[in-house]
Amino acid sequence: MRAAVYKGEQVLQVEDIPDPVPGPSQVVMRVKYSAICGTDVHAFMYDLAQPGAVMGHEYTGTIVDVGADITRWKTGDRVVGGGGHPPPGTGSATRTNPRFNYRTMGFQQNARPRGYAEYVLLEEWEPTPVPDDVTDEQAALCEPCAVTVHAVRLSDLKLGDAAVVLGAGPIGLLCMQTARAGGATSVIVSEPAPGRADAARRLGADAVLNPLDGDLDAQVVELTGGTGPQVVFECAAAPSTLEQALDLSARGGQVVMIAIAWEPTPIIPPNWMAREVRMQSSFGTQPEDWRIALELMRTGRVSVDHMLNATNFVQLEGIQGAFEALCHPTNELQVVVEF
Ligand SMILES: [Zn+2]
Repeated sequence: MRAAVYKGEQVLQVEDIPDPVPGPSQVVMRVKYSAICGTDVHAFMYDLAQPGAVMGHEYTGTIVDVGADITRWKTGDRVVGGGGHPPPGTGSATRTNPRFNYRTMGFQQNARPRGYAEYVLLEEWEPTPVPDDVTDEQAALCEPCAVTVHAVRLSDLKLGDAAVVLGAGPIGLLCMQTARAGGATSVIVSEPAPGRADAARRLGADAVLNPLDGDLDAQVVELTGGTGPQVVFECAAAPSTLEQALDLSARGGQVVMIAIAWEPTPIIPPNWMAREVRMQSSFGTQPEDWRIALELMRTGRVSVDHMLNATNFVQLEGIQGAFEALCHPTNELQVVVEF
């Protein structure tokens, strides 16, 4: 099969590698769409991925082969490549290692080729079925949607709260919708790029503010009746946004960090410290978040259609160029590898 193999030093090379063969309790899925995640772009940019690795964790497709003992899946089943509950005692390293270190372990723990390949070998418990009313294209965005479901479920957001989302990239656009589904009645988005700001407006943000134009803090305070938002979702990880998030929060409010900053991030405490703001980090997903994400898509409470209209679909052969382009500030919403 063809796979984009990471060669080190920001080089992805499309090579022929052996087709996976399912052993007992395993299935093989044929990948149809594999979305390029910011995490993979960072692994490429900072050369954190291991040479020989086939990255990609946001993929959807169909089951094409199953181990002899499999009764749960059959050929042709539509699935996303994650979200299944591991059997007891087999939790992932991320959750079970008390000193998990993202920089040194984040890209090594799963040596098996993943979504930037024509086929992926999965344990039979790993995939999640895609509902009939969710298209393959929509399902390709299940994992990033699940990331925002996870963040909203970790947060203290309550029905009727005001939420601010910093950044309207794919995660921000999904987060504004999952925050609303989670009970926020006012959702304010901060985004400087016009294309992304426009996407946030179309998806129903109550207000979209340009943080480079005027006093963001004053505008948010006015829009929230003088208090500031109860929850701020940090989906940008620009050098200034963590501090911005802390400063915007209401007294006793919460900042939920979703985006990962890979550079030193200066923060000056007095203002938000005096307001006793709480900070919650959010990392990846739990299995149930995938099912919830698919259900939110199925029922229309999360729409990914606008994102898909603005998605750049590339062939596997174009993956190197796509990663290089994503290393630089871009107005592009989402890039998906199509097989
Ligand atoms: Zn991802």
